[in-house]
Amino acid sequence: MDLLTTYEQMGLSREVCRRGEAVLETLRDRFDAIDRTAEANQAKVLLAMQKNRVGANHFAATTGYGYDDDGRDRLERVYADVFHTEAALVRPQITCGTHALTVALSANLLPGDELLSPVGLPYDTLQEVIGIRPSLCSLAEYGVRYRQADLKSDGSFDYDAIRAAITPKTRLVTIQRSKGYATRPSFSVAQIGELIAFCKKIKPDVVCMVDNCYGEFVDLVEPSDVGADMVVGSLIKNPGGGLAPIGGYICGTRACVDRCAYRLSAPGLGQEVGANLGILPAFYQGFFLAPTVVAGALKGAVFAASLYEGLGFRCVPSASEARSDIIQAVELGSEEAMCAFCAGIQAAAPVDSFAAPIPGDMPGYDSQVIMAAGAFVQGSSIELSADGPIRPPYAVYFQGGLTWNHAKLGVLLSLQKLADKGLAKL
Ligand SMILES: *Cc1c(COP(=O)(O)O)cnc(C)c1O
Repeated sequence: MDLLTTYEQMGLSREVCRRGEAVLETLRDRFDAIDRTAEANQAKVLLAMQKNRVGANHFAATTGYGYDDDGRDRLERVYADVFHTEAALVRPQITCGTHALTVALSANLLPGDELLSPVGLPYDTLQEVIGIRPSLCSLAEYGVRYRQADLKSDGSFDYDAIRAAITPKTRLVTIQRSKGYATRPSFSVAQIGELIAFCKKIKPDVVCMVDNCYGEFVDLVEPSDVGADMVVGSLIKNPGGGLAPIGGYICGTRACVDRCAYRLSAPGLGQEVGANLGILPAFYQGFFLAPTVVAGALKGAVFAASLYEGLGFRCVPSASEARSDIIQAVELGSEEAMCAFCAGIQAAAPVDSFAAPIPGDMPGYDSQVIMAAGAFVQGSSIELSADGPIRPPYAVYFQGGLTWNHAKLGVLLSLQKLADKGLAKL
C-alpha cells in the first residue's frame, strides 16, 4: 500500500497532502540548516560519551542508597561536558522541570536575598514557587524577595529597568529562554549572553540561572556557554530524547550544583545518594537521540508555521524567523478552530488516537484549556502535542514529535480537521 492510500485511511485527503508538499518545497534550506545543527550536537554528545568511557556496565540498576553508582555519576559528567559546566545533577528523583527549577532556586537563595526576573513574568508553575501567587512553602514564605523587570513592548530587554532592579541584595537572576505560553518572543542564546553580561557587570557575584526548557539542542551553543551559572530543564522535554520517562537536570558551577544536590537530598549527603532504579539506559540513550529528536520537532514547527501562515493565520514565531525553542504558536481565532486543530494532533498519535480532546478547567489558569497528546510518556511534550488556553487570540501551542515524519502527519491532519469544518480554505 502506498503512502497516500495509508494517509487516506487516516482521513487525510490528497488535497491537503499536495498543499503540504508545496510548502515543503520552500523549506529545503531551513531543513538543511536544522540538520547541520543536529549533526554538530550529535557529535558533541557522542564525544562526551566517548571521553567519559561510557560502557555497558554503566547501565546497571542500583537500589537503596545508591552509593558508588558509577553509571549515575558518569551520566552527570556527560551532561556537564555537553553543557560545558563544572558539574551536573541529572536525576530521576527530580520529578519534572518545575521541580528542577525549584531545587536550583531554593538551594541558591537564602532568607533576605532577592531574586530578579529581568524578562517579565516567569512560567505559570514558577509563580507559586516564587510566591508571586501565594503558596505554601514558596520562596516568599522563606523570606526571599522577588523583583521583576518587564520586557519592553517590542519584546526586548529593558536595561534601564533591570539596572534599577539590581540591588546589593540581588543574589540570583532567573532568565527563561522559551516564551512558554506567553506572547513574548523566545530568546536566543546570544541574547541571553548579552543579558547575563549586563547583569554581571552591575553585580559580578550575582548567580545567573537559565530556565532552558524546550531550548536544548536548538542552537549550537547553550546558555552555559555564554555565562549562565546554572542551566535547568526537564528530561521529558528535549534532553530526554523521548525515552526518559521522568527526570530533570541542573548543569552549572560546582558551587551552585553542590548546593542543589544538598537541597535535593540532604545537607552532607548531596550527590552521593540516589539510586537509579534501572532507569539509566533510557537516560543515556535518550540523551544520545536528543539532537535528532529536537531536529525533527524543529522541522515540524517550521512546517506548521509555513503551512498556516500561507493560509492567513498569524504564527509566533513566523515561518521565516530563527528558532530558540521547539514551540510553535498558531493563532486560530476561535475556540472551534482550536478544537479542530487539537483533534487532528490527537488523531495522529500512536497512543490514545481515538480520544477527543475537549476544553477543560485547569488549576492555575483563569480560562479553560484544551490539550492534545497521545504520548508514550504521560505529559511528555517532546512527543507530538498541542495545547492552549481558550481565550483570544485563540492560539494553540504546538510542539514536539519524536520523528519529523510524525510531526508532519500531525500538522497535516490538524489542517484536514480545519478544512473539514470549513475553518480553513485550501
Ligand atoms: C515546561 C516548562 C517548565 C516546567 O516544566 P514541567 O516539567 O512542566 O514542570 C518551566 N519553564 C518552561 C519555560 C517550560 O516550558
